[in-house]
Amino acid sequence: MHKQGLWFLAAVSLSIVLSCGDLRAQDLELVLLAPLGMICEDVDFSVVEQSAFKDQNMPEGLIRRAGWGARFPKGDMVFDRNYKTIVVHHTQTPSVLGYRGGESVRAIQDYHMDKNKWSDIGYHYLVGPEGKYYEGRAEGLLGSHCPPNEGRLGLNLIGDFSKGRDTLGTVQRRKLVELLKYFCAKYCIRTEEIKGHRDLDPSDCPGDNVYNLLPQIRRQVCGPL
Ligand SMILES: [Zn+2]
Repeated sequence: MHKQGLWFLAAVSLSIVLSCGDLRAQDLELVLLAPLGMICEDVDFSVVEQSAFKDQNMPEGLIRRAGWGARFPKGDMVFDRNYKTIVVHHTQTPSVLGYRGGESVRAIQDYHMDKNKWSDIGYHYLVGPEGKYYEGRAEGLLGSHCPPNEGRLGLNLIGDFSKGRDTLGTVQRRKLVELLKYFCAKYCIRTEEIKGHRDLDPSDCPGDNVYNLLPQIRRQVCGPL
């Protein structure tokens, strides 16, 4: 089908009337544009929440925010769509054994919003051991995962991949590689710009058991799945 492009520089509210017979709501992607660094205290985040029309190229297994019961973000969020680096993290808590699906993601969001006083969960996506992945902070907004955060898309592997703890399972690894392929293509990011958190910040994250695999994973991203 012919791809439709709709761009809005600014909108207080908007409505879209579908007049093409073969155009469905899920064929639309709502893209919010703003200069990098713009503070948007007055944005109605219900709009951001609805940016979630399915992108047909996204890997299978996505659980949207509504699917895991995300809280509504608080204000003071900043747009950032010019991603140049993908930062790989692990949760450490929970470990793979302690993972409870969406409940674990809600706990992470609670911690980030209530303890850290952030606007929302810090990462853009979180990947579960069973190969599902969760939409975190809306893509297109500045994350809170690796300061200064600008240009850094945050992918978090759920588990504790420190030495002697969890090892990265086949299914979770495969989903990570699929997501890295997808985001590298989408934002023209070179595989050298797939970083472990510790490459950019004093941190042990994403744990030796993932960090030591990153050279192999970068090669996998370049090759066939
Ligand atoms: Zn990290």
